[in-house]
Amino acid sequence: MTARLSQRLCTLTGIAAASLVISLATFALPAHAAADEVTLYTTREAGLIQPLLTAFTAQTGVKVNTVFVKDGLLERVKAEGARSPADVLMTVDIGNLVDLVDGGVTQPLKSPVMDAAVPANLRGTDGQWYALSMRARVLYADKKLPISSFRYEDLADPKYKGKVCIRAGQHPYNTALVAAMIAHDGAAKTEQWLRGVKANLARKATGGDRDVARDILGGICDIGIANSYYVGQMKNAKEGSDARKWGDAIKVIRPTFAGKNGGTHVNISGAALAKNAPNRANAAKLMEFLVSDSAQAFYAETNYEYPVRRGVALEPVIGETIGELKADPLPIIEIAKYRKQASALIDKVGFDQ
Ligand code: FE
Repeated sequence: MTARLSQRLCTLTGIAAASLVISLATFALPAHAAADEVTLYTTREAGLIQPLLTAFTAQTGVKVNTVFVKDGLLERVKAEGARSPADVLMTVDIGNLVDLVDGGVTQPLKSPVMDAAVPANLRGTDGQWYALSMRARVLYADKKLPISSFRYEDLADPKYKGKVCIRAGQHPYNTALVAAMIAHDGAAKTEQWLRGVKANLARKATGGDRDVARDILGGICDIGIANSYYVGQMKNAKEGSDARKWGDAIKVIRPTFAGKNGGTHVNISGAALAKNAPNRANAAKLMEFLVSDSAQAFYAETNYEYPVRRGVALEPVIGETIGELKADPLPIIEIAKYRKQASALIDKVGFDQ
């Protein structure tokens, strides 16, 4: 955590502690005070989320019971049914959020605060889910290459034959990108495009996003597609470390779709109010806290993500290397509708074979 940010979170803590003392001194504790809590189920890493939750408790006095769920969030909440203690469900990837809604474990959150903070294309129509942060699917390129702009369609250009690195097509990051391509260009063109990208691969579509930078440094490929926050992780890594070398070998370009909409493909992390939330008011408080200026700055500075709230500064390396995001204006929920079709196309062209 940066000094500036921890100072900001500490200030929040101080103010909250002071106001808590005042309220305790002034009013008798209500009978339900012991239940002033909220239960969060999250698939996100503890290291990222815990400092935010600590600041939330300090600011509001609401205790957070956190359950870190690695896999099977939907199945778990479904199995718990009406007795589920979950108030807020937090996860990564639009597909996972839509699955929670389709699985019937969410309910609409009516919150003008959330609606004001989260742009309409980054939330469910009736408050069934909200994005909390964004990540862009960007181009990593050998920094010696003379390219300064790129369209996703260019990945299939024969001039990049044997020069493209990417992780598995069936990984949710890529399935979402292919779904966006279908939303823009239709299934037939997308299939053709996928075949072209497959033909351009320098190696099997496998590994992780940072391996794209590693393999550019290793001379295996010239370009590749990966998420924006890994750039912050790599370029901020310790001087002399492998990750730092990979990060320093690349430049980053925000690709756009060739058609009328000029935006870059983004995915999200987000949260939803659980269907059987026992603590709805505190759930709303927690979600509203997560889109506040200080929490959004934390997402940016600690995890190198793009804030969903306007006016929140980017982490400096992300700001310098990638810059402000012009996100694809298509509602992300429209893109998510094509996930299954995208996955089928990826299989059809044998992308991961
Ligand atoms: Fe990731």
